Amino acid sequence: MIRRTILILHDAFDGKTREDLVDNRLEVEALTGSLKQLGFQVSSRPFDPHQVQELLDWIRQLKPALVFNLVEVVEGSGAKAHLSCECLDLAGVPYTGADAWSMQTTVDKVLTKTLLAGAGLPTPEWVEASGAGVFLPGEPYLVKPVFEDGSVGIAMESLVHSNSCEDLVATIRRRADILGTPCFAERFIDGREFNISVAGQVGQPDQPDVLPLVEMVFPGYSDAGLPAINTFNAKWSKTSFEHKHSKWTFEPRPGDGPLREQIVRLTEASWRLFRLRGYSRIEFRVDQDNQPWLIEVNTNPCITDTSGVPAAYAHAGVDFTGMVLRIAAEAGVDLPSLVKDAPADIVGESGDWHWQIKNRIRQGVDLPGGPGYLEQVRQADAAAIPAVSAVFPMAVTPYYASLFDLSNSNCPIRRQAVPDPAELIVSPGETDDPLEEERHSPLPGLIHRYPDRVLLLVSTECAVYCRHCSRKRMVGGSQQAITAETTSRAIGYIREHREIRDVLLSGGDPLMLQDERLAAILTEIRAVSHVEVIRIGTRMPVVLPQRITPELVCLLQRFHPLWLNTQFNHPAEFTPESEAALARLANAGIPLGNQSVLLKGINDKPETMRALLHKLVKNRVRPYYLYHCDYVRGLSHFRTSIRAGLDLLKTLQGHTSGFAVPSYVIDLPEGGGKTPLHAAHLAHLNLTGGEQLDLHNFEGIRFELNIDA
Ligand SMILES: *Cc1c(COP(=O)(O)O)cnc(C)c1O
Ligand code: SF4
Repeated sequence: MIRRTILILHDAFDGKTREDLVDNRLEVEALTGSLKQLGFQVSSRPFDPHQVQELLDWIRQLKPALVFNLVEVVEGSGAKAHLSCECLDLAGVPYTGADAWSMQTTVDKVLTKTLLAGAGLPTPEWVEASGAGVFLPGEPYLVKPVFEDGSVGIAMESLVHSNSCEDLVATIRRRADILGTPCFAERFIDGREFNISVAGQVGQPDQPDVLPLVEMVFPGYSDAGLPAINTFNAKWSKTSFEHKHSKWTFEPRPGDGPLREQIVRLTEASWRLFRLRGYSRIEFRVDQDNQPWLIEVNTNPCITDTSGVPAAYAHAGVDFTGMVLRIAAEAGVDLPSLVKDAPADIVGESGDWHWQIKNRIRQGVDLPGGPGYLEQVRQADAAAIPAVSAVFPMAVTPYYASLFDLSNSNCPIRRQAVPDPAELIVSPGETDDPLEEERHSPLPGLIHRYPDRVLLLVSTECAVYCRHCSRKRMVGGSQQAITAETTSRAIGYIREHREIRDVLLSGGDPLMLQDERLAAILTEIRAVSHVEVIRIGTRMPVVLPQRITPELVCLLQRFHPLWLNTQFNHPAEFTPESEAALARLANAGIPLGNQSVLLKGINDKPETMRALLHKLVKNRVRPYYLYHCDYVRGLSHFRTSIRAGLDLLKTLQGHTSGFAVPSYVIDLPEGGGKTPLHAAHLAHLNLTGGEQLDLHNFEGIRFELNIDA
């Protein structure tokens, strides 16, 4: 059960910000806002004709309900924009706007005019660079690019008076050289200009909805001696004379009735001729005899909230969101019904992981139930939260907080997330770093304790700061920042040590990084040929399952073999959200493991542990380790005795599926390393009271532990 996703496919923003491309970015923003408000997950990506396979994978992974196709420019030109439609056809997803044929035909203005003329619709005479066409001596011509929309390449000097066809052809070629794109010349209709927005109607492919007519007016142009041309500057350059002296209006002039009727008729005829879908803008010039001429057809025109199509809709009483709904409906997707069918708790902002991170609870008063709740539960705690969180920071995602059982003063979820004064007690044998990770760290951000594998710490942040964390000394603090350089240097170490075949991304939580950063790190590691396996250790499926987005999964599966270990500690941590997150990962072929920590009063009862293990295997997660709680400072209130752990294991081994039973391990103090505490190891011991336990680590070094401590 995940929120339905809508994709936005857009132009590549390459940093070079031509105004019409900036507009495409604003379009993505406006649309994203509107779709999110409707309750959808929105994902966007630029269209790259060299990454079609990736696009198809992405779509397969995200299974979007609809793709909004905003692609207008591909590799710097409109001529290839139709490739986006072809790819979406290949993917078999519904998408908005025109289809490939309409786009390819209408983007070529000469082809458009050829078809218009062929269908007997009025379009001004034209001359092509080859000299083909109709030259009318004495008439002015406007020289324009064949393939560009949005007035690109149109300036005052585009208007030319030529003595002969040869002259005009020479001008066309000169202009094409300057602009770097093929041009042609169209007889200039001196008169009024209309920009008509037109949209498809559901179930009526041949009968579009012609929106209120917009006239472009150029007050001040004639005084300045300028012809009324809608230039690139007029459209985009906010400081230009042209921009300041041109505007649009819905106001009809007296006596416009018959002209308007004719424009509507020609708009509908063009819609049918070019088999348009979605929304288009059709440009007209009107001559001194009130005759309208079709100039160009612009499929999928800009829909930023201040542009022509939304403005025309607004004039017709339909707001931006209403427009989005109509465009989607015409593409065959009824958005409101998709939201209606989705469970209420998974729609809205809270489904967005960034929102969850931004809205984390950082202090006691913001916890569910508020201060009153805390007082009622344990008065002392409430007062202690600031003191404890000053040492070990607190952060709780609204999602994880929603799992607290407010009627249970010992709620196992709450205890893992809310500071407890006991964290400030240091018990004998406890230290900040009992695993001596710092000693085994050849470089910042890297721990090399075992022969063939390393731990790469890529973040010191977590979504929720677990109260029982073994790396409390470093998480959430600012002192040990990990930067791109630290990580790169650590990967350099991995590259130089050919014995490393297994790299574990850890932290903090590696999935606190943005997708781009994570992809960069994974790419760098994958480029090391002796690294066989990459592992990610993350608590996100438990504390912020929204982080496991389809995009993330799509990214991770590019780096196989990639394993992921998470940390469910209690059966109540399984929710529709966390189960969906696990399913997404498992479906992408990512082997899933779980490393629980044995926590007193949380999961040390046989029935709780058994329920947890069964939930895990039902969700295709293999219970990997059950850690004896580390001898980290301030964790004694969570720690059971080793005997209690062994007794718990006895209730599992043989009593349930073998693969549902994790290895019970202890990370030996003084950096002794992970060592299993299986019953077999202890068979020679008589476990009756007060005994020292003899353990040998993987290096054969002997350790003595008190099993009742
Ligand atoms: C736990 C750990 C590993 C991985 O150990 P496995 O037993 O292979 O899961 C690697 N390096 C360090 C420092 C560790 O603590
Ligand atoms: S997610 Fe892991 S590193 Fe982060 S606080 Fe929890 S246990 Fe510690």
